[in-house]
Amino acid sequence: MFDESVETVDHEVAEALKKEVARQENNIELIASENFASRAVLETAGSVMTNKYAEGYPGKRYYGGCENMDTVERLAIDRACELFNCKYANVQAHSGSGANMAAYMALINPGDKILSMDLSHGGHLSHGAPVSFSGQLYEVAHYGVNEKSERIEAEEVIEAAEKFNPDLIVAGYSAYPREIPFDLFREVADAHDAFLVVDIAHIAGLVAAGHHSSPFPQADVVTSTTHKTLRGPRGGLILTNDQDIADKINKKIFPGIQGGPLMHQVAAKAVAFKEAMTEEFADYQKQVISNAIRLGEVLDDRGFHIVSGGTDNHLLLVNLVPKNITGKLAEKILDEVGITANKNTVPGETESPFVTSGVRLGTPAVTTRGMKEAEMEKIGELIDRVVSNPEDTKAHKMVKVEVSKLTAEFPLYPFIEGSGYSAVGIQA
Ligand SMILES: *Cc1c(COP(=O)(O)O)cnc(C)c1O
Repeated sequence: MFDESVETVDHEVAEALKKEVARQENNIELIASENFASRAVLETAGSVMTNKYAEGYPGKRYYGGCENMDTVERLAIDRACELFNCKYANVQAHSGSGANMAAYMALINPGDKILSMDLSHGGHLSHGAPVSFSGQLYEVAHYGVNEKSERIEAEEVIEAAEKFNPDLIVAGYSAYPREIPFDLFREVADAHDAFLVVDIAHIAGLVAAGHHSSPFPQADVVTSTTHKTLRGPRGGLILTNDQDIADKINKKIFPGIQGGPLMHQVAAKAVAFKEAMTEEFADYQKQVISNAIRLGEVLDDRGFHIVSGGTDNHLLLVNLVPKNITGKLAEKILDEVGITANKNTVPGETESPFVTSGVRLGTPAVTTRGMKEAEMEKIGELIDRVVSNPEDTKAHKMVKVEVSKLTAEFPLYPFIEGSGYSAVGIQA
């Protein structure tokens, strides 16, 4: 059994793998937090590095045989520091939420006060939601976006901080389409002698490529995921310029929160960081933003309300109230035609988080496939044809055909067996 392929050993899982390749190939992926990792990243993440225990850090391990682990982890650390222009990196965090947990634990004590963005305005669960460890271990208050501008406004952040006097402020979001004002957050943090944690989970790729301002030097700690715009393997990342804080973070990740690092993921992070240093990657991030802007313009022309009037980054928050349809229903009918997006609360939300009045759309994944402005125009039209005619099943069928045609023009993983593409990129 040991030498057999998954096809032979486990038909059920093999079947799901094949279907997932087909799903990723044949759908238009607009979930803003998703992307497609490269062949080199996939190869590394699926490698024998998964076999190794490497508790500790490079040069200071609790197990023997870690020389190759040290090599890849050092590469990942050095590349992360170069990419984000900082002194210290922890590349072992299993996830973005875990990275945030380590950052909070390194900086403040249970019961201390965290000020963060309201979840319904674009914040993340790990920024203090009552259902998250962060809402249970800390006292939490929120700032939001301005009702009119639908953007972060200085007066409101300052006022929220004055009311609450936080020990730690979190900036960085899951559904905020605008540039984040790091200077403002540094000033507010200083006024309250608070730490500033900037969570760039969503925008890390843009930051790495220089297409969003850097959270350094303003942030005390920067946390991130590696699998969103950064286009690496699924995982977390923590950065800082302060040696004392870096030591604390390392201790909080291991042995504080985690045991052995996922070395196959750490190695794949090193590969992704190398890819992120290239001009090709910078061009890709630029196109991600251009695509998001164009998609927003097309939807705006077709009567959708684009929150804040547009975007500076890779995502759009679309308020569906003018279209008289909920986020839940829009997500469902888009899914049925092969367009994958997620429902999302919008500023001034009147529906529950399970229903919502909006959808969040992101361009990282479709841009990885090579799609550009012309395809965004097409996708905007297809979304409108579905969402503006929720009951018209005949129209939906026609859109589904168009989705298949469009994705077939942009093969994703032609090198993966079963992807449905021949060498010339024609769908088999
Ligand atoms: C996605 C995200 C995270 C969490 O990442 P996981 O790896 O899913 O735990 C944290 N913060 C923000 C802002 C995010 O968007």
